[in-house]
Amino acid sequence: MKLHEYQSQRIFAQYGIPVQEGEVATTPQEARALAEQIGCPVVIKAQVLVGGRGKAGGIQWAQTPQEAEAIAARILSLQIKGLPVRKVLVTRAADIRQEIYLGIGVDRAAACPVMMASAEGGVDIEEVARTSPEAIRKVRVDPFVGLRDYQTRYLAKSIGLSPSLHRDFGRIAQGLYRSFVECDASLAEINPLVVTSAGTLLALDAKIVLDDNGLFRHPDLAQLRDIDEETPSERAAREAGLSFVQLDGHIGCMVNGAGLAMATMDLIRHFGGMPANFLDIGGGARAERVAAALRLILADPRVKAILINIFGGITRCDEVARGIVSVLDEVRPDLPIVARLVGTNEAEGRAILERSGYRILTATTLAEAAQKAVAAAQSS
Ligand code: ADP
Ligand code: MG
Repeated sequence: MKLHEYQSQRIFAQYGIPVQEGEVATTPQEARALAEQIGCPVVIKAQVLVGGRGKAGGIQWAQTPQEAEAIAARILSLQIKGLPVRKVLVTRAADIRQEIYLGIGVDRAAACPVMMASAEGGVDIEEVARTSPEAIRKVRVDPFVGLRDYQTRYLAKSIGLSPSLHRDFGRIAQGLYRSFVECDASLAEINPLVVTSAGTLLALDAKIVLDDNGLFRHPDLAQLRDIDEETPSERAAREAGLSFVQLDGHIGCMVNGAGLAMATMDLIRHFGGMPANFLDIGGGARAERVAAALRLILADPRVKAILINIFGGITRCDEVARGIVSVLDEVRPDLPIVARLVGTNEAEGRAILERSGYRILTATTLAEAAQKAVAAAQSS
């Protein structure tokens, strides 16, 4: 779950990171009032859950409150990377001498957190990583030991930060590391962390991505979810307890278990098709959850065939079949459906599908199911 800049900024402030605080406005009039209160010049910043807002025109300077109102109106009517802007952050404009990057994420290969710093902050860090990876300095953090002061000194020194700022940089890095660990984040990033013309460090942007699997430990953070920013299918999936990722292909997949779902997608590709989604209904899914999953797949107009692959263990095939039939009765799609139900109560499951009167293609092996789905998608 991604947090907005203003939300991440508040969290960073709690960890002692100096941030350029601001207030959120949802109308141009509010932005004007905030500009008066804060004192111009101000920077008006679109609050959308994507990066590169600056380049997209979502971050602009205002010299007067009137200008703040006009700019806020413009930004609030923008769509950035397909997302409509519903809120702006109004914040004091900083005098920037240098922009650096400081972030922490997870190095999956090394199985530990990795802190990264670069003198080339402000710009797209992924671009820096691609074109000049040596410009990003990294330290791996042992989670049992924590971030050590010598590591933050190394980062400060290797990005050429003036020695007078090393102590403050160390405090910021420690605060960032603690926020990352204590929030169960997968990413915490300040880009840019600037050196102001007064010679101090200040965080001008803030980004936190929380690990959804840790959210149950943080009811306060879970409440920060901005449901306006979710697509309807993401919301439906979350409410039904489904792991769902939309993809670009034509074959809708409904599978129980993430590993089986990935194997199913691989086989679809192997036989020349493209999956339209990753969808794991989880273990022991009841008919309602199965129905919600099928509705999600049917809501995607690009889907040309559906592949249902259930390996019944705790999940009962008859329960899955009941869920499927309940949706077919309601929606009556004319898409080819291939179902492979094996394991617990598979005979009952198949009987339910047969009795439903829908022509559902069946398969015994996964390869056969994938092949049939690919062929069905091509001819439909
Ligand atoms: P994004 O990463 O989405 O483009 P940022 O918050 O990083 O958004 O802003 C982009 C750029 O705008 C920054 O690199 C910085 O140069 C400038 N900027 C952002 N906030 C301020 C501010 N409060 N004062 C001065 N400049 C700012
Ligand atoms: Mg940024």
